[in-house]
Amino acid sequence: MTSTRSLLFAGVAVAGMAWAVRGRSSQAFGPSVWRGKPGRKAVALTFDDGPSSATLEILDILAEYKTPATFFQCGGNVLRAPEISQAVAAGPHEIGNHSYSHPNLSLSRPEQIMDEFARAQDAIIHATSVTPALMRAPYGVRWFGFRAMQARLGLTGVMWTVIGRDWTLPAQAIAGRVLSNIKDGAIICLHDGREMKPHPDISRTVEAVRRIVPSALERGYHFETVSQLLTEN
Ligand SMILES: [Zn+2]
Repeated sequence: MTSTRSLLFAGVAVAGMAWAVRGRSSQAFGPSVWRGKPGRKAVALTFDDGPSSATLEILDILAEYKTPATFFQCGGNVLRAPEISQAVAAGPHEIGNHSYSHPNLSLSRPEQIMDEFARAQDAIIHATSVTPALMRAPYGVRWFGFRAMQARLGLTGVMWTVIGRDWTLPAQAIAGRVLSNIKDGAIICLHDGREMKPHPDISRTVEAVRRIVPSALERGYHFETVSQLLTEN
């Protein structure tokens, strides 16, 4: 009886911990958002793991529809392709911090967490003169040390309302998944890179964006950056 009970408690603790680490609404390791406020037909497109050679294709589509987006960039990728970060910063877009080298930071020491985000912050500021106010944890995994890091660097955590699973699904399925989950204040997570790969194949994401943006506009939604989406109107 006792052992069944302790197993049960251990199971609940593990489930609770998994939620704390990866749950989209978890605040356990620092302030974090996963949607904007309802009440206006606004959504935010976000792209992780850039900049990469493929980011420019996405910028072209966004420019065609005068659509802003938020790019969570990795410092190592910014260092490799600062001109692409600059192209993002030159548009109506927002740049967020997605760590330096995209590690899974669970079980990491607070100093490593600080180092990852401080180095990425420096790389982005150096390349673009923009100081990010938002961060997204690699793989959405938060841990002890995030709260102190966020406080020190002034970063709000951002998760997502809908994730496109664009690293595995074909374009039509990515677009279908996003469009069927779109609602007021939705934060949509896609990828313009693949972790630290210099030349990732993100053609499915590009094709999905070509479908998502005009369909959402036709339905009466407009796009905002995440910071705009979080602002009271
Ligand atoms: Zn990522």
